[in-house]
Amino acid sequence: MLPSATARVGELNDLKSSRAGCTVEVLPMRITCLLPCLLFSAWLTAQHGTPPQQPKHEAAPLVHAPHPFLPPAAALECLRAGLVLYAAASMKGQSPPPPSERPGGAGRYVAAVVCCADADLDLSGMFGLAQKDLLVIRVPGPFLSLEITALLEQAVLRERLSLCVVLSHADCACLSAEATQSPAGQALKSRIEAARALATERHLALPAAIAGNERDQLIWSSPPISAAIKEGRFRIVPATFFAPTKTVLMHLSRKEEMPIAPVK
Ligand SMILES: [Zn+2]
Repeated sequence: MLPSATARVGELNDLKSSRAGCTVEVLPMRITCLLPCLLFSAWLTAQHGTPPQQPKHEAAPLVHAPHPFLPPAAALECLRAGLVLYAAASMKGQSPPPPSERPGGAGRYVAAVVCCADADLDLSGMFGLAQKDLLVIRVPGPFLSLEITALLEQAVLRERLSLCVVLSHADCACLSAEATQSPAGQALKSRIEAARALATERHLALPAAIAGNERDQLIWSSPPISAAIKEGRFRIVPATFFAPTKTVLMHLSRKEEMPIAPVK
């Protein structure tokens, strides 16, 4: 190292003489500063040998860590806990409690709720969630459509949605209202009549029959959702809201969970 240090001083001197006139005032100052450093470095090398090389910081290998995931059962438990607090506050005449802490592992939404459009429900307050944590879809019935199915598919596949509640309500006006004679009115009427026949066949209340049937229709009509359910990544729970008690009954019994043939 010492010879190379001397060579460095020689190079600087050569540079000084080759650029005489423009650097003559600067180079002596640099040489004066560099020379003690170079000599000290040469002395250290002579005393201790070549300094050890610093280990290179190699880039960590890319690891495709699994995304966090909120299991359907955990999402359902979160919603049910919110319902208990909501019902307790309602019984005391209090306003809904503040949203609970967002459960870990949830995607963009903790859950989706498909509910009837004419239901006067504070859904996020009922389930104890912030509005942004609940994907709310309001549609008469609720009767699902291809567009709603597509939206839920996107949420399941791209935003890790793990739970959807299909929520009917016991005091639904649109189920008992006289249908208009327009094609739209007759379309709604035919869906209500099919649900009414199913309710009779299965000995269920009409709102429960609608929620259960729409759940089954969603599964039958959507291969991505059906696959997600089979893999345990998604669950659809039919439920009914009862206004007098401000409670939600989840239809989780074996009979109500039993898959049925599509009814159109
Ligand atoms: Zn309704």
